[in-house]
Amino acid sequence: MQFAETDINNGEKRKLENGTEDLVSKKRNNRDVISYNDHPKLLIPKLCKLMYDLGWATGTGGGMSIRDGSKIYMAPSGVQKEMIQPEEVFLCNSTGEVVESPEKKLKLTECAPLFMNAYTMRNAGAVLHSHSKFANLVSLLFKGPEFKITHQEMQKGIKKGSTTNPFKYNDMLIVPIIENVCHERELTNRMRRAMEMYPETNAVIVRRHGVYIWGSTWQAAKSQAECYHYLFEIAIEMKRLGLNPDQPPGNEGGITDAD
Ligand SMILES: [Zn+2]
Repeated sequence: MQFAETDINNGEKRKLENGTEDLVSKKRNNRDVISYNDHPKLLIPKLCKLMYDLGWATGTGGGMSIRDGSKIYMAPSGVQKEMIQPEEVFLCNSTGEVVESPEKKLKLTECAPLFMNAYTMRNAGAVLHSHSKFANLVSLLFKGPEFKITHQEMQKGIKKGSTTNPFKYNDMLIVPIIENVCHERELTNRMRRAMEMYPETNAVIVRRHGVYIWGSTWQAAKSQAECYHYLFEIAIEMKRLGLNPDQPPGNEGGITDAD
């Protein structure tokens, strides 16, 4: 990342000193604009706001984390996820120990050990936890340990495990489902087990709760999360209409290539 820890609020300082605000610092300070060059301490609040707006992080639920080399940034626990400030983000080392806490008395996200699963087992660059209603509902419609869907264009937006190979349109995409517990941290072992059993997955659904999704970068985690949520939602709608998301279609009678 190109910004030092202390540079994050410099845009505002420069504005006060010079009486002017350059375009870069204006963009950097704009909470609504996400830039590829944003520091993780800026990205986490912005992405959490996005998650809140999508219904993935309401009621202080959900959260996210970004890794930059050996530095791991994590959101605080139990706060309004759409109002996180850059200075409220925790900095952890590569084993998940906190090395820099916010000045404000805040608790590290309850998801920390679960986020660490994605970093240690899959070398992820970012992980998010969503409390989306679609992830929750899909876990009730698919009994047993697997969510399955096939022949959907959006599954091509998801990579097979840590490889660079995306799922094909006609592959069967499977997301393991783990059973929920009373305390988030107690999900750590069963999430790890699910990841071992399903090496091609980049998500683990928690029944009656939500989903954990990761990617090689924050952009990959974000776009894969969008694809997974799309697939959860369409699977729910398909089941409501009596269609089977995990059944390969027969001849549906549309136009194909000429003979
Ligand atoms: Zn949760």
